[in-house]
Amino acid sequence: MSNETLQAVRGMNDILPDEAELWLWFEEVVREWLHSYGYRNIRMPLVEPTALFKRAIGEVTDIVEKEMYSFEDTLNGDQLTLRPEGTASCVRAALQHNLLYNAPQRLYYSGQMFRHERPQKGRYRQFHQFGVEALGFAGPDIDAEQILMCARLWQKLGLQDVALQLNTLGDIESRQRHRTKLIAYFLQHQDVLDADATRRLHSNPLRILDSKNPAMHDLIIAAPSLMDELEDDALQHFSAVQEILKQHNVKFEINPRLVRGLDYYNRTVFEWVTTRLGAQGTICAGGRFDGLIEQVGGKPTPATGFAMGIERLLALLLDDGMTLPKYRVDIYVVHQGELASKMASRVSEQLRDAKFQVILHCGGGSFKSQMKKADASGAIVALVIGDDEASAGEVSVKPMRGGEQARVSVDKLNFAINQFIKQE
Ligand code: ATP
Ligand code: MG
Repeated sequence: MSNETLQAVRGMNDILPDEAELWLWFEEVVREWLHSYGYRNIRMPLVEPTALFKRAIGEVTDIVEKEMYSFEDTLNGDQLTLRPEGTASCVRAALQHNLLYNAPQRLYYSGQMFRHERPQKGRYRQFHQFGVEALGFAGPDIDAEQILMCARLWQKLGLQDVALQLNTLGDIESRQRHRTKLIAYFLQHQDVLDADATRRLHSNPLRILDSKNPAMHDLIIAAPSLMDELEDDALQHFSAVQEILKQHNVKFEINPRLVRGLDYYNRTVFEWVTTRLGAQGTICAGGRFDGLIEQVGGKPTPATGFAMGIERLLALLLDDGMTLPKYRVDIYVVHQGELASKMASRVSEQLRDAKFQVILHCGGGSFKSQMKKADASGAIVALVIGDDEASAGEVSVKPMRGGEQARVSVDKLNFAINQFIKQE
């Protein structure tokens, strides 16, 4: 047997306790924000049938073509995939359980997503998202509300320079017309196309517009614009979204080359970007997906949503100078002797009933070594219980950051400790 140390899978990170304090804080802020807009939590499996993502995201997208962790369940031959995003699963769950039967739904989820990409700062193979989906809403009001929500979150988090990019992808017919024109245009300039673009020419020409290759920049700038093909309905929808954003003083830039990497989007699409995370500058992205629910097997139902990358948001907060929230525990209980130990564990439970955070020393040792642990724990007070205290029904309360040690009877303990904690 080899005793080589095993390592985590490349691109999949451990989040250690100090850093997890930041995650916990962030998740609480986000949950409170989501609830303030009436969104309700839904939790889907991490693994879904591969067919779901192929159908929902699209066969010729980067995600499905080369980023999915797909495998066969060797026990029964099922084709399965670790979810690369949450929208497809959320829609699948809503349909499977008839959630859309007679009311629209505002839903959110959070958790791991998996994409086999080249790991680098802000791009991992396991990463985390908060995803938000409004299913069963057709009007521009909800598109705008979701964007306003994001603006409020950035404000809550104290993030300043995240910019909003907005576009519309129109509806199926206008996209078809645009697609035909795009193919004709790129065919005329085949010599300028790189390998990726050539491969996509007939399968997904819209994605060529998203290319970052400088050699194709001019070609892309001059390409036929989808805006010229849009129907009145889609145009009106788009201007209504913009109108609401303006009413709320949310600044945006219209970016006609914003196409998104998933096939299910139509009409409004948006991204929140920062220039401070290098090439991985998109912290939140989303849009309307009116065709997806039908595509996954439901009745035609309009919908819109977005997802934010937690790693990128936290990186941005740290870059802004945010410090990790400090872990804290209120009380460390040291004890020695049989009677004292029994009382220590009883007293600890009593204090937890009163909502204090309590570490009861485990593993024995001298008072001196236990006090060292109490010190290292960062607790505000230590309780010291020897058999002497125990037989008197008392506890010594030692403030760890200066102040007099006092002996207090067990029934007055909660009150006494509160005095110290309040001073903090
Ligand atoms: P990118 O253009 O950066 O590859 P994307 O368009 O593939 O992003 P989406 O599928 O829209 O991303 O996912 C929403 C958000 O999730 C992104 O804006 C980003 O913040 C985050 N995200 C996507 N892929 C990764 C990844 N591999 N590692 C970390 N975060 C990611
Ligand atoms: Mg991507």
